[in-house]
Amino acid sequence: MNIKDIQAREILDSRGNPTIEVEMTLANNIKAVASVPSGASTGSKEALELRDNDQNRYMGKGVLKAVENVNTIIRNALIGQKLDQVTVDKTLLRLDGTANKSKLGANAMLAVSLASLKCLAKLQNKELYEYVTYGKVSLPIPMINIINGGVHADNNLDIQEFMIVPIIKGESKRIEAASEIFHTLKNILKKRGLTTSVGDEGGFAPNLKNTTESLDLIMDAINEANYHPGKDVLIALDVAASELYDKNKNVYKIDNLELNANELIKYYVKLISNYPIISIEDPFNENDLESLAVLTKIVGSRVMLVGDDYFCTNSTLLEAGIKVGAGNAILLKANQIGTISEMTKTIITAKKNNYKTVISHRSGETEDTFIADLAVGFGIPFIKTGSVCRGERIAKYNRLMKIEEILNGK
Ligand code: PGA
Ligand code: ZN
Repeated sequence: MNIKDIQAREILDSRGNPTIEVEMTLANNIKAVASVPSGASTGSKEALELRDNDQNRYMGKGVLKAVENVNTIIRNALIGQKLDQVTVDKTLLRLDGTANKSKLGANAMLAVSLASLKCLAKLQNKELYEYVTYGKVSLPIPMINIINGGVHADNNLDIQEFMIVPIIKGESKRIEAASEIFHTLKNILKKRGLTTSVGDEGGFAPNLKNTTESLDLIMDAINEANYHPGKDVLIALDVAASELYDKNKNVYKIDNLELNANELIKYYVKLISNYPIISIEDPFNENDLESLAVLTKIVGSRVMLVGDDYFCTNSTLLEAGIKVGAGNAILLKANQIGTISEMTKTIITAKKNNYKTVISHRSGETEDTFIADLAVGFGIPFIKTGSVCRGERIAKYNRLMKIEEILNGK
């Protein structure tokens, strides 16, 4: 089936900043719409998110250039062509021609790549998860971010994300547990006179003394909601340590301390022995593969060490980590790399090398639920899609519950 039309437009993300949406129409009038999210604690090796930098519009954050690239360069090259994912992505890469997607913008490219994928699924009359199925489908375990800190909130918490990981059976049961723990935590915060306002990913953003106080609150909420920490609910952290790293002093500013990498390793080992932590993401700055490898050696058999800014969904960066034994898991964010084909390659590299995979939203999201489908189709064991609050996060949880219903044949 040939591509008849491609139209891009500027829309707003969950933070109220512009992002790009693309509508693709095929010759038989099948249509699909895709939109791309946007990060705040971005890795320096991510593909470029093209913004206008015109201070007269949206504080420079407009994406009209990316929209224009789709509506002219990309549209001209793809219209009338047979729709095929590999061909579309190869064409996008050829038209861009840069190492970091700086000509067309990874946001423009991903919107088109993803709209193609959705059109292909519709063309075969398949659900998106069904179309992308690679091996065995499975419902991912959600890592639900219930306390926000770092650059995602205006509080004083240094660690960016404190997540609960319900490992009980059934997707809707896991989401139910998360919601109950979330509301229990809200009541605990209220009782203690702490704010219940939320951060960018829908988690609470109270001012707390330190990391331990935040973890203790979460343990209390799990217990009070009648779940067993360590048995049916675990904890995951995204430190996003590049944001805490002072390059000049070569230290991390965390909990009012200044820790070098060795001290930070001890800090993590202690946290892991005191709390049921299953996963730590970006524990050091994105260039320090060495410390990540040391920590992996010490705790890697018990804990997932996830590279987000480290690997940027890029198979070459992942391979560099694999070579030195840095980490044992990778975070997958399609807009870090820019095309579905490249992300698929990264997933295959991770699986081949026994690295666990975690698919992820961005802190600036849209109502597009593609990550839920990709998680199921690709059999990705974990998904990070924020708290059980805020429509753009909930859309993904609702989609997962719907897929569960379909898979159970209801
Ligand atoms: P970001 O944060 O979308 O702001 O990059 C998410 C993450 O660090 O995992
Ligand atoms: Zn991260």
